[in-house]
Formats: sequence, C-alpha cells, structure tokens
Amino acid sequence: MDLTVKDLSVKYSEKEIVKKVSLETSDNSFVALLGPNGSGKSTLLRSIYRVLKPSGGIILFDGKDSEDISNRKLAKEMAVVSQMNNLNFDFTVKEIVMMGRTPHLNILQSESSKDYEIVNSALEDVGMEDYGNRSYTSLSGGEKQRIMLARAIAQEPKLLILDEPTNHLDVRFQLQTLSIVKKLGINVLAALHDLTLASQFCDYLYILKDGEIDSQGKPDQVLTKEVIKRVYDIECEIVQAPNSKGLLISYYPPQTV
Ligand code: ATP
Ligand code: MG
Repeated sequence: MDLTVKDLSVKYSEKEIVKKVSLETSDNSFVALLGPNGSGKSTLLRSIYRVLKPSGGIILFDGKDSEDISNRKLAKEMAVVSQMNNLNFDFTVKEIVMMGRTPHLNILQSESSKDYEIVNSALEDVGMEDYGNRSYTSLSGGEKQRIMLARAIAQEPKLLILDEPTNHLDVRFQLQTLSIVKKLGINVLAALHDLTLASQFCDYLYILKDGEIDSQGKPDQVLTKEVIKRVYDIECEIVQAPNSKGLLISYYPPQTV
C-alpha cells in the first residue's frame, strides 16, 4: 500500500512540531526518516498511524484520503512498531505475536492453524522461535523489540511504519532486523538514527530538521558532510563501503573540531 503525505502539519497545544511535510513511500520501497532528537519524526509517524490528528495537510493510502478509510481496513494493511514497546504486557510471546493476526479474524472467529503457522514463521524470522512460551515482560529490551517486529510481520501488512526499530539491538540484530524488513518487499517508512545503516538498507531518505524536510533523495546523494554538519552540527568523514552497498560514516567528537 502506497503512502503519500502532503503538506502535513502537526501541533502539540499551539506549538507546530511538524511543518508542512510532504513525503511518500511507493513501489515497495524502504524509506527512512532521519533527523536529530526532537525534530518531529515520531510526531509525524504518529499522525500517519492515527494517534495524533494533523492540524493541516493530507494523508493518502493508495491515493485515497485517510479519512475515508476505516481503522479496521487500515489495520489489515498497515503495521506499526512504535518507539514505546516497553509496555507491561502480561502475555506470552506467542500471544503477543498472535495479536498481529487480530485484524484478519472476524468477530468471534478463533485462530486457525494457518494463523499459528504465520506466528511461528514470524518468530523464526526474528530468531525468537524458542521464546514462544516465555512471558513478554521477562524479555530483554532487544528481545522485546524483535517480538514487536514479529507481531508486525504476522500482521502481513502492505505498509510498515517503524519508529527506531533497532535502538535496543546489538549490531548483529540491527543488521538482521533491517535485512528482514527489506526482504518483506513492502512499503516501509522507518525513523532511524544510524545513518550508515540507513545508507545500506534504504532506497530513499528524508531528513527532518526542526519539523521540516531539510533534504531528501537517495542515500549517497543526501548523506554528505555538508548535510550532516548542517543538520546535526557534527563533522564527519564519509567513504563508500568497499564490499557492500552503502556508506561508512565516521564522526568527529564535537570538542575536537
Ligand atoms: P527522537 O529522535 O528523540 O525520538 P523525534 O524526532 O521522534 O525525536 P518527537 O518525539 O516527534 O521527536 O518530538 C518532537 C518535539 O515535540 C520535541 O520537542 C518534543 O519535546 C515535542 N513533543 C513530543 N510530544 C509532545 C507532547 N505530548 N506535548 C508537547 N510536546 C511534545
Ligand atoms: Mg522519536
């Protein structure tokens, strides 16, 4: 499912946090939303997944105004992994992942063997197949994050919204998570912090600064020393990664420049 956002503005009280942002993810591309802490990434994503009402602009799913699409229909097509996954669920891992199937079940319909297969395969995708009977609350931060991704995969979405899906993960699982997401072959919009990872996995980047799009384009066009200096106020060196797609970025600590 394609997502198009046009001139979207979002306010908290009277303060405009997201200012006339336009972006899109279409043709099953993996799109990243980058930008410093507080630049408005989560706020923008929350308005896309309907936790916040925008103060202006329009959100389209497959070209259709979001306001004309029911929550139930949207839940079948869009999955969300938000930044707040540290909830105290008193459920097993399998039960949490099964929640991803809810939009596909009719009222009073119980899960079928197909739903269980989808749940098991989603757990395998994130390398958590041995954790199905564990209590969710007993998991580590990174394990919880992988379970939230498994729940989103089990939902079989056509659009995936991720808010910092890798922030608790060790380097191997950061790479694994982004590879899994890429292999889904669906439209993805992900707020990320790691610019190197974004350059390796993403097809297109938008950089937010103070609630506005500062730059957008393919990773090697957007991630330049000048843009990183302007947006993050950090000096860096950038080289093309020798054996893989993407860039290698090293940063200079602020006090030495
Ligand atoms: P991070 O990289 O730290 O996750 P972000 O780009 O996701 O940052 P947001 O969470 O969208 O940033 O926050 C944008 C701005 O809006 C911040 O200045 C934040 O303090 C402010 N903000 C967020 N939630 C609220 C709220 N409920 N009320 C008032 N201001 C808020
Ligand atoms: Mg955020």
